[in-house]
Amino acid sequence: MRIVITGGAGFLGSHLCRYFINKGHKVIAIDNLITGSMANIEYLFKSSSFEFYKYDVTNYIHVPGKVDAILHFASPASPVDYLKFPIPTLKVGALGTHKALGFAKDKKAIFMIASTSEVYGDPLINPQHEKYWGNVNPVGPRGVYDEAKRFAEAMTMAYHRYHKMPVRIIRIFNTYGPNMRINDGRAVPNFMSQAIKNKPITVYGDGSQTRSLCYVSDLVEGIYRLLESGISEPVNIGNPHEITLLELAQTIKKISASKSKIVFKPLPQDDPKVRRPDITIAKTKLKWEPKVSLEEGLKKTLSYFKEKLKTA
Ligand code: UDP
Repeated sequence: MRIVITGGAGFLGSHLCRYFINKGHKVIAIDNLITGSMANIEYLFKSSSFEFYKYDVTNYIHVPGKVDAILHFASPASPVDYLKFPIPTLKVGALGTHKALGFAKDKKAIFMIASTSEVYGDPLINPQHEKYWGNVNPVGPRGVYDEAKRFAEAMTMAYHRYHKMPVRIIRIFNTYGPNMRINDGRAVPNFMSQAIKNKPITVYGDGSQTRSLCYVSDLVEGIYRLLESGISEPVNIGNPHEITLLELAQTIKKISASKSKIVFKPLPQDDPKVRRPDITIAKTKLKWEPKVSLEEGLKKTLSYFKEKLKTA
């Protein structure tokens, strides 16, 4: 296959580029680098199967030649980043999805949109299954991401229904691993850089809010299986192992043998109180479930951040 990956220099995008190249496919990565990084894809330039374009996909997209699949993964994805870039976040989720869909239609390619557990907002049910419509504050600070992704899902289904296009909608739950930016503001990179430097580990609120963290290699395998399936409805991909943020901070402190203190800071507005994927559909229809334990994944991620901080 010849695959276009928007956001190809980002955390997930860069893992996808590598995964598909290793499987023998050709990959064209597109990224405007507002949150992505060339360092994530530098070594891929050695492969003749890899091309990269620095480009903002909220504009008209054109790639010459045949394209079999488009994976639209471009977007700021950390709450800190989408607060810093609220309008680009709205634009890439809305206008970027429209452009990528039009491009996929033109190429008669499969289209996959990276959606998110944020479409469930601050959920009133736990775990969240795909039929749940969510509890989103459209005008809150997270609304720029949540609503853009909800619009992206609606647009994707409209192209599927109206143009009979093959589409895939993956709802990605919290994912972590190498190639995350150490300063992207999310819990895992924050806690790890704080723990490595023996600085205070900043837990927001009382730390009783929960998340369920998936290691990136498990997520990528789920993306591949969904792409290969014929499922056009949304599918949750994530690890259902749910923990509190305080437990996460304690685990990271332990595995890094850190002297850091755990301190409590104000909880950001509209921060979801619980989050856990119901992965029944992924398990039954994709035969997928995560394999990497939290401790194992965190250890691999910690080695990556230690190395990054050494060269920073
Ligand atoms: N969080 C925290 N300390 C930090 C960064 C984040 O306690 O330094 C909390 C945040 O308030 C949220 C959880 O960690 O409850 C996960 O936040 P993240 O930014 O990783 O992503 P989210 O799941 O909110 O999109």
